[in-house]
Amino acid sequence: MSEVRVRFPPSPTGYLHIGGARTAIYNWLFARKHGGKFILRIEDTDADRSTQESIDGILDGMKWLGIDWDEGPYFQTEFAGEHVEKAQQLLADGHAYKCFCTKEDLDAKREAAMAAKKQLGYDGTCRNLTSDEVAHKEAAGIPYVVRFKVPHKDGVVSYDDKVLGLIKRKYSEIEDFVIVRSNGKPLYLLCNVVDDIRDRISHIIRGQDHMTNTTRQILIYEALGAKIPVFAHMPLTLDLKKAKISKRSHGEIVAVQFYQQHGFLPWALVNFLVLLGWNPGDDREIFSKEELIETFSLERINKAASIFNYRKGDPKFFTDPKAININAQYLRTIPVEELAGYVKEELQANDLWDDAYEGDKKEWFLKTLEMIRERFHTIKDFVADGRAYFTDDFQINEKALKKNVLKHPGLKEWLPMLADRFDQLPELTTEEAERVAREFAEEIEVKVGIPINAARAVITGQLKGPSMFELFELFGKERVVSRLRNAPKYFEDQS
Ligand code: GLU
Repeated sequence: MSEVRVRFPPSPTGYLHIGGARTAIYNWLFARKHGGKFILRIEDTDADRSTQESIDGILDGMKWLGIDWDEGPYFQTEFAGEHVEKAQQLLADGHAYKCFCTKEDLDAKREAAMAAKKQLGYDGTCRNLTSDEVAHKEAAGIPYVVRFKVPHKDGVVSYDDKVLGLIKRKYSEIEDFVIVRSNGKPLYLLCNVVDDIRDRISHIIRGQDHMTNTTRQILIYEALGAKIPVFAHMPLTLDLKKAKISKRSHGEIVAVQFYQQHGFLPWALVNFLVLLGWNPGDDREIFSKEELIETFSLERINKAASIFNYRKGDPKFFTDPKAININAQYLRTIPVEELAGYVKEELQANDLWDDAYEGDKKEWFLKTLEMIRERFHTIKDFVADGRAYFTDDFQINEKALKKNVLKHPGLKEWLPMLADRFDQLPELTTEEAERVAREFAEEIEVKVGIPINAARAVITGQLKGPSMFELFELFGKERVVSRLRNAPKYFEDQS
């Protein structure tokens, strides 16, 4: 394969959409796999809708995901002169013509065609104007657009899509489309091709929603005498009702930033997005960067639409459960030192960080993360469900309080008694804690689970968690004793 050069050309009119991010990721993977170049080009030609805020959001989102580019960001507006020049070249070479039809003319024609159930589309009124007629209209100051002259009315445009196979479209189905507006500004269809030619793009990997553009753009390549790139069209991402996912109907969950703000690891989101529209051919689900670059291929991009499985309502499933599940798998398996970096940021943001976690308490900190990460789904869980590990200022989970503490009134005395037993130990190790707790339970004639589950509630604030005997050691004698001694307050709060 000659040099692979791919691009991601977002229009900066909003946040970085997860669908856009997926397009970027596929292009990036393809470039990395073939030792090619990944080019970032901002299509900011629509001045009314493009914003600096959106440009920053796109760049930040890509950086956060770890999708690095080799060239750019280029800005389309910087090449406005070249776009106009190419439009003039197309006019001069007879591949385009000036069209003086007014909006009213076109509307009337469309209505007439609809009434007669004829094919819609431009009827070619100005296609064959003589040069005198054109000069005359121009001299009269009649505004015009430039239309591309679709060739040979009985031929077909065809290309071999890397995902969908051979695609054909009859010329007769393609109207003479506008490439320059009446204000002199070239349109997307042309600018995008001119930029792709200049950037020597070899493969265009983009959504199936661009397929009608592709056939028209191939005609522009041909007219400009340029090599046509390879096309690969990716499936759209739909919701459970088969509607396109959008901010309007789905809210923030379609923005990459949402995942950043909700405790996702960037690579977990990349991994999820890659599987949304591509499959490795086996049932693997978790891929390191290297594995993904190695395994990725255009041929294994799915043809059918991808379904973003999201139901509003359940806070645990605030987005597609598969995304959450993949994130949880990463939380459990990445090196704990790496996890520590993410948790640090989260603790800092919540005023729970202690510098000793990188000093004297480092071993404790890493061990704690190792133990609690098993049940967590996002980085946010470390300061929510995991709060009691990092501060005395935490709330007990209501269910844990009712079920494991208040249900047994005897615990009001038992928990401080257990605290006293622990306090007498020279050291509160896992083994000693277990021995003492079991003896104590026997003495008060209850199952050991009763004081243990209650201790879990008042020490960790949670209903469930890692082995409580190990947690006694992890929390340490001082915190264990003080939280157990404080337990009667929960009974008093109720009365
Ligand atoms: N700016 C276009 C978009 O965001 C680019 C499409 C393309 O050619 O890849 O949809």
